[in-house]
Amino acid sequence: MDLYSAAQFSVRRVSSELFSPGSIFSVYSLATTFCIAVGALAWRHKARRGRVNLRAIARAIFDKRLILNNSFSADVKLAVLSVIFMPAVIGALVISANAVSMAVRATLTSAFGPLAPVDCCALQIKVVSTVVLFLAYEIGYFVDHYLKHRVQFLWELHKVHHTADVLTPVTNYRNHPIDNVVFGYMLALFIGGASGVLDWLLGRHTEIFSVDGKNILFILFLWTIGHLQHSQFWIPFGGVWGRLILSPAHHQIHHSNDPEHFNRNLGSVLAIWDWMFGTLEVPSRKNPRLAYGVEEEGVDPHSSFGMLVTPPLKSAAALWRALGSVGRSSLGAWSFVTARVQQRRHG
Ligand SMILES: [Zn+2]
Ligand SMILES: [Zn+2]
Repeated sequence: MDLYSAAQFSVRRVSSELFSPGSIFSVYSLATTFCIAVGALAWRHKARRGRVNLRAIARAIFDKRLILNNSFSADVKLAVLSVIFMPAVIGALVISANAVSMAVRATLTSAFGPLAPVDCCALQIKVVSTVVLFLAYEIGYFVDHYLKHRVQFLWELHKVHHTADVLTPVTNYRNHPIDNVVFGYMLALFIGGASGVLDWLLGRHTEIFSVDGKNILFILFLWTIGHLQHSQFWIPFGGVWGRLILSPAHHQIHHSNDPEHFNRNLGSVLAIWDWMFGTLEVPSRKNPRLAYGVEEEGVDPHSSFGMLVTPPLKSAAALWRALGSVGRSSLGAWSFVTARVQQRRHG
């Protein structure tokens, strides 16, 4: 690929990321998020001081301390990597939800036989399918995130997202490429699995309400509170809402460097999985002024080396240790069993 074609390819990738309504960083989702942030800050100013100070709101949204920061520059580097270089690699490595769906449908058909296509109630079926596949995405996200916080070799890769000292919508991209590949597999399994079951039950391919192939319920989240989860604006949902939906403040608690907040609020949109598994931390109304980031010894977590090279090395070392301890436990169990057998023979 010559320089001109490389430049053309990069421009196409960036423009698709910015102008496709289903992209996670579309100008539309950023515009709606901007309006919601301005509205929330104006409402707070009015409630506290009886008037709205537009200059203070602009200063809060375009905060120089956030942008002139090593953590933000690191987020931007990973964003460029994710947008321009990684889609092809991840697309090639990750099995698609479609392939999983076809495999599940074929397995069910060969085990139980085909079901007659459902011909009625197309709209209701489309609504139910949209909700079911959204729930499949949600459960897949929660399981993936739960494992990444519990299993050391997965945590070493996921930690890249948590080394951000400041949160902005660009932090969405702050993920190690291998972490993204694992996430892709998990979503393919859960969404593809659910879609295969639906296809078999309905006797035809499942249709959902979507934008650019993405579930419309996820797009709704992205266009409202999704970007605010990675922002400095404390917008908490309390009471019943705080147990159903993860507000921006819920996710800021997830990034907090206070040990009391570690491994809390692991879901994406819905708080119910965290509620069910005891990992939910409902935010207070008052802003606790959280600090973010993870201490890393001997490496700058915002350098390219610290973000891209150290995590897979640490992950491989953790996996090696885990395999070693499994090997030692198996050896111990085997020695115990053979000793007992010999004892019985002699007894
Ligand atoms: Zn996390
Ligand atoms: Zn995050």
